[in-house]
Amino acid sequence: MLDKAAKQEILDEIAAQVRGCTRCPLHRSRSNAVPGEGNPDADVMFIGEAPGHYEDQQGRPFVGNAGQLLDRLLGIAGLGRSDVFIANILKCRPPKNRDPGPDERAACSEYLDAQIATIQPLAICLLGRVPLQTLLEPGGSITRLHGKPQEKDGMLWVPLFHPAAALHRADYMPQLEEDMANLKQILDSRLE
Ligand code: SF4
Repeated sequence: MLDKAAKQEILDEIAAQVRGCTRCPLHRSRSNAVPGEGNPDADVMFIGEAPGHYEDQQGRPFVGNAGQLLDRLLGIAGLGRSDVFIANILKCRPPKNRDPGPDERAACSEYLDAQIATIQPLAICLLGRVPLQTLLEPGGSITRLHGKPQEKDGMLWVPLFHPAAALHRADYMPQLEEDMANLKQILDSRLE
């Protein structure tokens, strides 16, 4: 079992590899790669789709409007940014925020896999359709599966609506808030 400092060292090395990565064509159009950041000893990881405009500019995950909403939602689950680790399926922004391509997902997966293996969280929250279909259920519907945790590989996988989707679809917001409140209950029971 790695201690927090050892985990941080490995995560820093992964981040350095990501920042220098040229494995897929997205490295040509990025301003900054976004490796992910947070607590190396996190009980919960949040995984989004890919960096957007502001994330690409700053090299940090979830810093735009969706990031502000994520901060509020974390509060509902009794969490803050310093408690969790936040990453994306892709570490570089696809042009015009299009969906990640299968070749790009395959090229980038090693980094996220290594982050998960290092942190070894209790739970992984999948923010939206792309993380759900990439990591848990190919072809799965986020509308059908959100808020329904599944056990896999010794971890709890929790599909949730992406905060950006809730900013565009007002009817998603109460469901996302309810799912975050349920996440708090799940975590509280697991950490007792
Ligand atoms: S998206 Fe991933 S695989 Fe592609 S260049 Fe960026 S870090 Fe490398």
